[in-house]
Amino acid sequence: SADLAMYHSKEQGRNQLYFFEPGMQQRSLLRQQLESEMHLALSQQQFKLFFQPKVNNKGKLTGYEALLRWQHPERGMISPELFIPVAETSGFITVLGQWILAEACNALKHLTDPQLTIAINVSKRQLQTPDFVEKTLLQIRTAGIKASRLEFEITESMLMTDVEQTRQKLQQLHQQGIRFALDDFGTGYSSLAFLKNVPIQVLKIDRSFVRDFLSDQTDYAIVDTIISMAKTLKLTVVAEGVETTEQFKMLSWLKCDLFQGFLFGKPAPEFCLPQPVEQLLTLPIADHPI
Ligand code: C2E
Ligand code: MG
Ligand code: MG
Ligand code: MG
Repeated sequence: SADLAMYHSKEQGRNQLYFFEPGMQQRSLLRQQLESEMHLALSQQQFKLFFQPKVNNKGKLTGYEALLRWQHPERGMISPELFIPVAETSGFITVLGQWILAEACNALKHLTDPQLTIAINVSKRQLQTPDFVEKTLLQIRTAGIKASRLEFEITESMLMTDVEQTRQKLQQLHQQGIRFALDDFGTGYSSLAFLKNVPIQVLKIDRSFVRDFLSDQTDYAIVDTIISMAKTLKLTVVAEGVETTEQFKMLSWLKCDLFQGFLFGKPAPEFCLPQPVEQLLTLPIADHPI
């Protein structure tokens, strides 16, 4: 990527790869450039929402996660992992976030099956904006869509700052029908106590645990525990980053509710139907793997 260069250094050891972080100046220069380019980018329609399907254990489509893309005319496609933090720091995320919600509401009108939902990622700075609740509800009302078709993905750390204010905001939005998911679950440091007091309906198991859980005992234990915990707390549990049929089968066997990953579909500029997986389920599921 533009931000992180990888160097192969013979001097420092054979066949070893070193990650070289560009200097502070270079890094902040890129961030400054992106920051100043974002405003124009929005007005020139360089931002686009991509949609990735989510399916149930029968492989049936339940909805999509909206993932932001920046198609830069010179730099090419820029990863949200690079530009979202820049937009957060500068405060531009507030404007961008409103655009994302408007796009998602508009997309919902084209998603005619009323059962299907769209999830958007909401960042910390957005949620902390004082009029976030009012602005959000106004936008939804203006768009004329049902709030219950929207899901907001937030992260654990967002529950741990301004705890009471955050809880109230989530509560107000949930009362109007918006569902909340905890994204990248398991990577933060939240305790179960936090889950007790906030209106969260969905847990999304982080991709890093799903990746190796079939071969790594610790990851397996974490995945198993998160699913059991979700069941006990009556939350819906989603596995992120499902790439293989083996992962899908084992996650189904562990009673994971929903699945998202390249196995079913990559994020795409249109609503693509998920890869059919019915036949996978007819195959025998292995006994306990580890
Ligand atoms: P996230 O919300 O956890 O999104 C899931 C990421 O995993 C997406 O990366 C998606 O493309 C990727 N992914 C999904 N399935 C697979 C798979 O099977 N294998 C692999 N290797 N990857 C998979 P993406 O789109 O690059 O987004 C990265 C992060 O950027 C997101 O993580 C989210 O934190 C943030 N982001 C993306 N769009 C938005 C947005 O509209 N607003 C905000 N605030 N953040 C966003
Ligand atoms: Mg997400
Ligand atoms: Mg996620
Ligand atoms: Mg993730």
